[in-house]
Amino acid sequence: MQMRPCWAEIDTRAVEENFRLLESLAAPHAELLAIVKADAYGHSLELCAPAAVRAGAKWLGVTSVEEGVAARAVCPEARILVICGVFPGQAAELIRHNLTAVAWELWQLEDLEIAAQAAGLGPGTLPVHLEIDTGMSRQGVDPRALDPVLARFSPGSALQLEAIMTHLFAADESDGRVTAEQLATLDEALGAISAAGHFAEWLNVGNSAALLAGQAAAVAELAARHGMRAMLRPGLTLYGVAPAYTPPFTEEPATLAAALANLKPVMTWKTRIVGVRDVPVGTVVGYNATFVATEPMRLALIAAGYADGLDRRLGNRFHLLVRGEQAPLVGRVSMDQAVIDVTDLPEAKAGDEVILIGAQGSETISAFDHAAVAGTIPYQIFTSIGPRVPRVAV
Ligand SMILES: *Cc1c(COP(=O)(O)O)cnc(C)c1O
Repeated sequence: MQMRPCWAEIDTRAVEENFRLLESLAAPHAELLAIVKADAYGHSLELCAPAAVRAGAKWLGVTSVEEGVAARAVCPEARILVICGVFPGQAAELIRHNLTAVAWELWQLEDLEIAAQAAGLGPGTLPVHLEIDTGMSRQGVDPRALDPVLARFSPGSALQLEAIMTHLFAADESDGRVTAEQLATLDEALGAISAAGHFAEWLNVGNSAALLAGQAAAVAELAARHGMRAMLRPGLTLYGVAPAYTPPFTEEPATLAAALANLKPVMTWKTRIVGVRDVPVGTVVGYNATFVATEPMRLALIAAGYADGLDRRLGNRFHLLVRGEQAPLVGRVSMDQAVIDVTDLPEAKAGDEVILIGAQGSETISAFDHAAVAGTIPYQIFTSIGPRVPRVAV
C-alpha cells in the first residue's frame, strides 16, 4: 500500500560516519558506548543500532530491558547496557538476552543475584555497571553509602563489578566547573571502592557534551589513576547534532570544532503538499481562526500534524521548506494536518515535498530550530516524532 506522505528518511551511512568521527575524537582516551535509547532518539533502533555496530561500536546503551530485547534482535554480538536499570521481575529476562544492567539499589543487585543463580551462572560471571550519584540526584548510589552495595559483590556472588558509572549532568556548561566537581567526587568514591578491595575495569562516564567539550582526557586521566579504562556514552551526536553550550565557548575546543564541521545529520523529516488553494483577503485559517489572510494568498495543506510530532506551538511561528524556500506555517497546527503559506511560490503544487527537518536547496531546518520555538530541546523534538511516521532507510 502507498503510505500517507509523512515520513523520516534515515541516512544509516551518516550514523556510521558519525560514530567513526566520535571514536576518533575520543581516541586515545576513551572507548565509546553508542546510546540508542528511545528508538535511537526517534531515528529507529532497528536502523541505527546495526549501523553503529557496523562502524565498530562494541557497546550499545538502551533505556530498558524491553529496548534491550529489541536491540539484541538486530545486534546479536554487541554488549547492550540497560542504563535505567532493571525493574522488579525483569532480571531473568535481562540474563536470557545477555543484556548488562546498570544498578544502584540493593534490591536490584539482589534480584540480579537470584536470577543469575537460577540461570546457573557461576561466581563473578554476571557483569554489572554500578552507578554512583555524583550530584544529579537522579539514579546512583550515594557515595557515602557504598559499603552495603559493594558487599553484594562478594567473592561467591554471581555479580561482577565491571564498571563504575556516573552521569555528567552539566557537561554542556562551558566553564566545566560542575563537571570538575563531579569528577572529584568520583575520584574519592573510586578510592573508597579500591580500599574496600573491589576493582572495576571500566569507568563509564560522560555524554556527547562531555566528549565534544574535550572531557575524554580528564575522564581517562581519572580512570588511569585507578587502574581503569575510560568509556564515554554519546547519544545526540551519533544522530548528527552537536549539543549547544551555555554560555557559548569563547574558544571552541578542537573536539567541538571538528564535530561542528563534520557531523552529518541522520534524519530528514518530510511530508507532501496535499492540495493548494487560492484564498481572498479576510479568509481565516485553522482552529479558532488564529490566522486571517491579509491579502489574496495561496495556501497549501500538508499531511503532518502534532500527532506526528509537529509541535502545536509552532503554528504562526515557524516555517517549513518547499522548493528550497521558506513557507510559513499559518494558523494552528492540527492533529494530522497543517497549512503553509505558498503565496510566494506560484509553482507549488500537490505532491511537492515539504521538509520539516533537513535541508532543501540552500535552506536547512534543524531540530534545534523546532526546539527554540517550542521551548524545548532537540532531544524532545526527535523523540516526539510519532510511531505513525515511518522511518525509511536511505
Ligand atoms: C541519554 C544518556 C546519554 C547520552 O546523552 P547525549 O546528550 O545524547 O549524548 C548518556 N548517558 C546517560 C545515562 C543517558 O541517559
